[in-house]
Amino acid sequence: MDIKPLLLQRSENRCELCEGDQGLEVYQIEPTELAISECQMISCQICLEQLDKGATLDEEHWKCLIQSSQSEYTSVQVVSWRQLSRLGHLDWSKEILNTMELDELTLEWASAGL
Ligand SMILES: [Zn+2]
Repeated sequence: MDIKPLLLQRSENRCELCEGDQGLEVYQIEPTELAISECQMISCQICLEQLDKGATLDEEHWKCLIQSSQSEYTSVQVVSWRQLSRLGHLDWSKEILNTMELDELTLEWASAGL
């Protein structure tokens, strides 16, 4: 089953991180062996490029995490948490991280991908 149409529907054809609409793709969140069913999300091209661990993060762009960290979807929370952690040297990022309440399994999943 192609999950992309379903994900696009839930995201209203927007990137689930920054709400951009350019080059939307399904982002597969690794690792997937933790048996969490919901491990995909919609991401735009700009976010996709910077989700790469080796990529330099554009701090201004990632202010979108202020919103996305409040997402109702676990997958979006996990990716937001990881990006915030990569920006953990910044005050605003640290602040949001402190307010996020991930359950134990989700936190384990999020940490595993750092
Ligand atoms: Zn985006």
